[in-house]
Amino acid sequence: MARILITSGPTRQYLDPVRYLTNASSGRMGAALAASAVAGGHEVIVVSGPVEVAYPAGVKVVPVVSTEEMLAEAQRIFPTCDGLIGVAAPCDYRPIKVAEGKINKTGEPLVLQLIETPDVVATLGAAKQHQWCVGFALETDDHRLRALAKLEKKSCDLMVLNGTEAMNAIDTSVEILAPDGAVIESLAGSKERVADGIFRVISARLIAGSAK
Ligand code: C5P
Repeated sequence: MARILITSGPTRQYLDPVRYLTNASSGRMGAALAASAVAGGHEVIVVSGPVEVAYPAGVKVVPVVSTEEMLAEAQRIFPTCDGLIGVAAPCDYRPIKVAEGKINKTGEPLVLQLIETPDVVATLGAAKQHQWCVGFALETDDHRLRALAKLEKKSCDLMVLNGTEAMNAIDTSVEILAPDGAVIESLAGSKERVADGIFRVISARLIAGSAK
């Protein structure tokens, strides 16, 4: 049995008390992977941004809002885990300055200065000891090349490549890439079916190999 950390869903970066930057991630793939892992008898902790989706029973859910909070919670939990599945879509940018009060309309263009937020998977990947890490990549061009570059940059053991149609959708199609660039498996169908297939590969290649 493994103890698995899953980061899931979008994050929010507030501009003022009522407005935020985010993306359309639903958390469905995270919920489906959590269900596959629980069905395999594993212990699952999900650090999740704000989502509508319900995570399966038996999963510990740690709710967060921003990317910095997701990183802080994941860093706290990761050392006690055997592996990470980073399926979240953390917001990559945050406003340099968060307005204390609601930004009022002036009739003029509003210029926002944004800076990058930390990369959760890359930060955990760089700090991993005995753990394995699985990342996800959503690419519109040069799919495999870019996904492979991310696998390396984020110190992942597998990278799951999906197309933009996966975002906030019921169905998905993915390729699972190994560090040597090989396509281990191509899967298509409901996120639940695809999650089962991804988890089978994780079990065979990463969990079985690191069993204590
Ligand atoms: O956004 P990007 O395509 O680089 O995401 C690839 C992987 O990195 C995904 O697994 C995602 O969960 C992770 N990521 C992250 N923190 C970010 C951006 C991406 O953990 N700020």
